[in-house]
Amino acid sequence: MENKNQNEDPKEEKVSIASEPIKAEAKPKIAIVALTSCEGCQFALLDLGEKFLELVEKVEMIDWGMIEDEEDPGVDLDIAIVEGTPITEENVETLKKLRKRSKLLVVLGNCAAMGGIPEIKNYHEGKNTIKHVYRYIQGIENTEIKEVDNFVKVDFVFPGCPITAEEFLKYFPDLLEGRIPDRTDQPVCVECKAKGNRCLLLDNKPCFGPMIQGGCDAVCPTSKMMCQGCRGLRPKGNVKAMRATLKKMMTDEEFENVTEIFGLRDDISERESKM
Ligand code: SF4
Ligand code: SF4
Ligand code: SF4
Repeated sequence: MENKNQNEDPKEEKVSIASEPIKAEAKPKIAIVALTSCEGCQFALLDLGEKFLELVEKVEMIDWGMIEDEEDPGVDLDIAIVEGTPITEENVETLKKLRKRSKLLVVLGNCAAMGGIPEIKNYHEGKNTIKHVYRYIQGIENTEIKEVDNFVKVDFVFPGCPITAEEFLKYFPDLLEGRIPDRTDQPVCVECKAKGNRCLLLDNKPCFGPMIQGGCDAVCPTSKMMCQGCRGLRPKGNVKAMRATLKKMMTDEEFENVTEIFGLRDDISERESKM
């Protein structure tokens, strides 16, 4: 899924009002729910330590399977936070029920937003990848991987694999007030240059930074690794120009292979089909 909630004007960071404001007098009711995932995005929240505890003070945590065993009471929610890919029938049912009882539904991370690493299977099922995972495949569900917004409306995306926890702190207060933040359309390159990094492209090393949504502090190029696009395409990312530039540095097959890692390949195809 391409990030759809990003501001067209890079100079401004505005907020728009969600259709039903959350009542100010009560603490907002929140649930954090994992579908099929590695739970790394939830751990990114826990890694915030005291900052996260301060945030939790401001909400009524209705359900969070990672930290408590109690059954979800099923009450209405102000915000449902969903991590992971809806792969099983149970995942899809959980997701649809959450949407019905939540004013806002936001997704955490690349798996939920873009299909993530599980989506690699979509591109290789012709090679029957399931046989490499299970010895006996009878009775094993082997559905196509689809990101969350194929099943329910998504109000906001925290992108990345894992999410950038500081970005969660930046935007979550708006969501608590019932407002949907707009994200500035800014490539990874901006933060990369701010770090004083030498651009990998100058040394004929591939990097997707120019077409990918920033906000991760350019962690990969800062470690001399190419940006592989875990945060998704920028609304104005120029895929055609990126392909042309990278032709000197990687084959078409290598390009496709890298775009499969974080579920970027289908988004690129969709963007190119509209050109
Ligand atoms: S986006 Fe990455 S860290 Fe988050 S659940 Fe998926 S695989 Fe794990
Ligand atoms: S290394 Fe990558 S992210 Fe950094 S400036 Fe170059 S293209 Fe952009
Ligand atoms: S540099 Fe690219 S791949 Fe690395 S975290 Fe940022 S968006 Fe993801």
